Amino acid sequence: MTSAVTYIGRLAPSPTGLLHLGHAATFWTASERARSAAGKLLLRNEDTDPQRAKPEFLDAMLEDLAWLGIAWEPPMVVQSERIALYRAALEQLLDAGLAYACTCSRRDLQQMTQAPHEDDDDEPVYNGRCRPSATWRSGLQGGINYRFRVPDGARISFVDGNFGPQSYAAGCGGEASFGDFLVWRKDGLPSYQLACAVDDAAMHVTEVVRGRDLLKSTTRQILLQRALGLPTPAYFHTELLRDAAGVRLAKRHNALALRTLRQQGWSPEEVRAMFG
Ligand code: GLU
Repeated sequence: MTSAVTYIGRLAPSPTGLLHLGHAATFWTASERARSAAGKLLLRNEDTDPQRAKPEFLDAMLEDLAWLGIAWEPPMVVQSERIALYRAALEQLLDAGLAYACTCSRRDLQQMTQAPHEDDDDEPVYNGRCRPSATWRSGLQGGINYRFRVPDGARISFVDGNFGPQSYAAGCGGEASFGDFLVWRKDGLPSYQLACAVDDAAMHVTEVVRGRDLLKSTTRQILLQRALGLPTPAYFHTELLRDAAGVRLAKRHNALALRTLRQQGWSPEEVRAMFG
């Protein structure tokens, strides 16, 4: 008798470079958690950045994952093929008055930027410059960025499976740790936050395993899930691998690529042993 699969995890790489040890460690944790729960592990190709996503990086990554011993269940979900789904979600947000057009230039945004913490994400706390009144509604127009309106002063909390209780304040400036964030870009593509929230629900993901640099993104995605009526999965963020000097691997230009180690003669077992 087979029992129904209750755990669904996912790997969600962006094919914008070679897989390095830091990603591999997170993916290994994701794979181990799915395996120990006798669950499924899906793969989503987050290729919505046309400037940086390259098919050759996808091919290299698939090969590196297989070499490392990470198996995932096909079919691969490809975000660039799902734009209509994300657009429908944006329209739902616009209808509810929860998203608005933002015409701030890169320069305007730079002026709002506080130096991001090294382990944090890079999205500055938006000061609300383009925020319309709460009763305002808009349709979708091309060539414009759209932001999600966060509830001012609200605390978004969740319990991370690895790091325990987390809580971040939403709002425009002040004490807020995150503000109105991008959901749609003027090139007609969704932001990472929107595509991720929509897809984790569409793929019935029950637990998201990813690096701790995305902790704050989790609160943004929880807000999107609530606004779109989607379920919130469990979250398990992983510690980021650092080099001997304590620098995050992902921040190093020469972050150790898995295939470099492989060319140097490392075995998959030796690489996995580094993940502890
Ligand atoms: N594509 C994202 C990245 O490579 C990961 C997103 C996620 O796991 O939610 O950083």
